[in-house]
Amino acid sequence: MSALAYPPPPGSSEHPDSRSIRGRLQDPFDGYFRRRDGWTPEPGGLLDVPAAHRWFGAMAWTSRAGLYSYQQAFTRVDATHVGLEGRRLLMLSSYDYLALRGHPEIDAAAIDAVRRHGTGTGGVRLLTGTCSLHRELEAALAGLKGVDAALALGSGYAANVGVIGALFGPRDLVLADQSVHRSILEGCRVAGVPVRTFHHNDVAALRGLLEDTRATPRRLIAVDGLYSMDGDVCPLPGIVALKNEHGAFLLVDEAHAVGVLGATGRGVNEHFGLPGSSVDLWTGSLSKAIPASGGYIAGSRELVMYLQHGTAPFMFSAALAPASAAAARTAIAVMLRSPERIARQVRAGARLREGLARRGWNTGTSSNALVPVIVEDDAVAYALARRLLDEGVFASAIVAPAVPLRGARLRLCVGAAHSDDDIDEALHAFDAARR
Ligand code: PMP
Repeated sequence: MSALAYPPPPGSSEHPDSRSIRGRLQDPFDGYFRRRDGWTPEPGGLLDVPAAHRWFGAMAWTSRAGLYSYQQAFTRVDATHVGLEGRRLLMLSSYDYLALRGHPEIDAAAIDAVRRHGTGTGGVRLLTGTCSLHRELEAALAGLKGVDAALALGSGYAANVGVIGALFGPRDLVLADQSVHRSILEGCRVAGVPVRTFHHNDVAALRGLLEDTRATPRRLIAVDGLYSMDGDVCPLPGIVALKNEHGAFLLVDEAHAVGVLGATGRGVNEHFGLPGSSVDLWTGSLSKAIPASGGYIAGSRELVMYLQHGTAPFMFSAALAPASAAAARTAIAVMLRSPERIARQVRAGARLREGLARRGWNTGTSSNALVPVIVEDDAVAYALARRLLDEGVFASAIVAPAVPLRGARLRLCVGAAHSDDDIDEALHAFDAARR
């Protein structure tokens, strides 16, 4: 197989889209594919041969065709636009759902944190890395999710890996929605816990799995509150009822739900009017609607005290930077007192989703500000992203393994700062891209 064989090359450098390029894209490979045809991985080398074939092939033809729009380094960013190669582009794929990035109070909190605590923590949380800002953030997170306590970690990824790794093992079983985030599956791998997946958002399928696996004493149901590739919401009431009926535990990853679901952005439990205590393990990220970086686990007091001595990222990985802790804590406070931001984000999502659907684009099962445009074919997704760029709109193309094979899509996210005019501009760009 040639290094250019995947995906079926629509003409590689002769691809028709290369003729329509109006603005320049950055080449993150520094001309690698201009100097050589590609690269053929050696069996037994460092890289997995089929995966390297796939990615080098995709990198080569998309680079030559001017369709590689990943890893673009923006020169400036505001709530709705980014600067790229001298152009100002409407950003349609940022997780900044509440337009809190650059909020003066949040920025000031981060700057003050640097002044008082410096830029690093000098240690892991258990030893010397904890500062007062971590405690304040953890109290805010527990309040946000309506539970006793929370633990702030370096990322949302680390939170999922850390909590499953700490609590479950080979004798247990995880029942995961087939669309859960990669970090949940990674946590299961680290824990050595077997995983059975159930059809996405299918409560009847979960019931069947729970009935089939009665013999396993400890079972964890793992779901996302809001699914990051489809923009649909987990049916939490049905899942909570099942977990109670079957004596299973429940983990809900709120990375995308916080700031998007619920009247004040508290997430999927607020969306359905359920108490935070109906879920055993909440996890989430501080890098999306909350414009910082980091992650968290939230639950009972005893759970958190145990994890302080049992989860690897708390004991063996550097603490969350003070600026991130302060920014996240302040952002939670700003979010909770600004329900109008949630309302604006909901409106922007509805206008975009309905406009796209009216034009015949497939927006799947999305019901909020995270809107996929499913085109199935990787090459179509790359080309559509590129054409939108030419129309002044930045949208991320998502292909396998982030979505199933033949599930390629653009993943659009809009936020509280996107005006009706911005959304209409985006819809016109889709019209032009289709032409
Ligand atoms: N869970 C979900 C559902 C996510 O979408 C992400 C980030 N893409 C994460 C966890 C990981 O969060 P972080 O970026 O903070 O590591």
